[in-house]
Amino acid sequence: MDNRVFAAACAGYDQRRVEEAVGQMFAAFGGVEKFLQKGKKVLIKPNLLLAREPDGATTTHPAVVGAVAALFVRAGAAVTIADSPGGPYNALTMPRVYRLCGMEKAAKYAKARLNRDFSSQTVRFEGLQPREFELLTPVCRADVVINIGKMKTHMLTYFTGAVKNLFGTVPGLQKAAMHSRLPGQQAFCRMLVDLCRCVGPDFSIIDGVVGMDGRGPSGGRPRRAGVLLAAENPFAADLAAMYICGLQPERSPVHSFAAAQKLVCAEPERIEWLSEPFRPLDEPFLPASGRSRRSESVISRLPGRIRQPLRRVLVAAPHVTERCAGCGACAQACPAHAITVRGGRASVDGRRCIRCYCCHELCPVRAIRI
Ligand code: SF4
Ligand code: SF4
Repeated sequence: MDNRVFAAACAGYDQRRVEEAVGQMFAAFGGVEKFLQKGKKVLIKPNLLLAREPDGATTTHPAVVGAVAALFVRAGAAVTIADSPGGPYNALTMPRVYRLCGMEKAAKYAKARLNRDFSSQTVRFEGLQPREFELLTPVCRADVVINIGKMKTHMLTYFTGAVKNLFGTVPGLQKAAMHSRLPGQQAFCRMLVDLCRCVGPDFSIIDGVVGMDGRGPSGGRPRRAGVLLAAENPFAADLAAMYICGLQPERSPVHSFAAAQKLVCAEPERIEWLSEPFRPLDEPFLPASGRSRRSESVISRLPGRIRQPLRRVLVAAPHVTERCAGCGACAQACPAHAITVRGGRASVDGRRCIRCYCCHELCPVRAIRI
């Protein structure tokens, strides 16, 4: 079990300071050259949840992506930056995501390329159960995968950092189909553990310089934590991040499943710090509300046919506020086809809704409340 984590203090996104921190992180784990022994084709997987500017603290900051990419390019690697956001994933939608999230500039700065191959491949994996994952082709073809998540609370999974970030290796609306096949927090989080092991990133970084708390992963408030975290084990990176944020790892189903499988230590006290240990924030991150873990864990043990009706009663449904601009992004992503847009305003059919909160994640104007 690899519980090693490196934490680098980083007060802001000044490119020089970020590069210094990134250099320290890789040096602590044996240097970039160690990773390139596997090959020179490097894929960087940031969190590009939706087309939003970096100040929104929803996506991985381009200064971090640029710093990691530049480090590998200087070492002779061919670097591709790739992610699939929550909505459609194709040649029409991705240029805007790259531009608004600052990835165009990061790629130019580092002399890396932005992924334009929108195909995918089926990969079989035996995890908690046998599964088939549809993964972005460049992820499958990379020699080295560097996973760069964002430190955020999450309405469905409690926390997103390194492990949940890998859901973006599943192309576009296929993510919605997975939500539909795996309704409920527990089943979804079990899948995330398997997906993370299937992708097997070589190195994971969490951008916690400015993270997000409250109604994450897209509707919360930006929160400065002033830290970049790195680990070879993504489960260890997440545990360290939750510890620093003052969140409770035992409330994260992903962490509970991973710890039960001995993929990571259960308690943050057993993290092996390769840097000075980073103290928890004086003011902890506010957890995302809207989902009762106890209800979910009870529901997950009941027979399949009564789970969904009970979930409708016990787990809060989303509702659309007056901020709605009628763009239809939520309806397009809804795996249960529970949203209709009429007269410039969306509405949710609570009887169809499976409480996956994709609509909340993807609304560009934060019009959905749980
Ligand atoms: S709720 Fe948000 S995503 Fe849905 S239609 Fe309204 S503005 Fe668009
Ligand atoms: S309405 Fe929202 S929470 Fe409900 S199933 Fe659709 S996307 Fe998921």
